[in-house]
Amino acid sequence: MKTEFIQRCIKGITQAIIEHENDIESLDRAIGDGDHYINLKRGCLAINSMANDFNLMPPSDVFKKIGMKLLSTIGGASGPLFASFFLELSKSLENDGDDRDGFTKGFASGVRAIMTRGKSDFGEKTMLDVLIPISELLNNRVDGDIFDVATQIDRKANEAMLATKDLLPTKGRSAGLGDRALGHIDPGAKSCQVMISAVCQEILKAKK
Ligand code: ADP
Ligand code: MG
Repeated sequence: MKTEFIQRCIKGITQAIIEHENDIESLDRAIGDGDHYINLKRGCLAINSMANDFNLMPPSDVFKKIGMKLLSTIGGASGPLFASFFLELSKSLENDGDDRDGFTKGFASGVRAIMTRGKSDFGEKTMLDVLIPISELLNNRVDGDIFDVATQIDRKANEAMLATKDLLPTKGRSAGLGDRALGHIDPGAKSCQVMISAVCQEILKAKK
């Protein structure tokens, strides 16, 4: 992975989050407290303003800076969870390298860090319902054609996000709603899908 690609993804993700303001905000208003979009936008803008400083840094240092910044800028439950993903990804890249195999391992370590910090697992109507299937897909297709894999990941993230609609929440703020949360997509699952899709679009641009 190249730092220049991460910088393009930061721009792409920020733009995608802003474009999905209404979706993300209304989902968190329905089954949360309505702050998820604002939290994410604050984090994205803070990272954008640092992005030029990343020029000469290796990806592991870039992800460490991102994790630390998120810890201090995004509030709510999601801030520390996203931060622990990037901090663990950074550590893993440092140990295993930043090629595709190293990134796949790093992504899995980041997802495990969210599970540990959130005491949560697949099927609890959270961001993990998108992140866990994507981590598995990355792992299964580590040797697959990069454009094929990006297309599959984009599709899978969308399916996984939609599937949270029918799940009963057992973690986070929405857990208290019980049955009343049925029929609503989890806001964190939606924001992760939007961010993952933005990264896939950056990969697929190289094909055009
Ligand atoms: P808050 O719930 O504190 O207002 P946000 O609105 O920023 O924080 O984030 C809510 C999202 O965080 C949820 O939609 C869910 O995806 C995710 N989330 C909350 N708690 C957990 C947890 N324990 N494990 C994994 N994800 C969680
Ligand atoms: Mg919220």
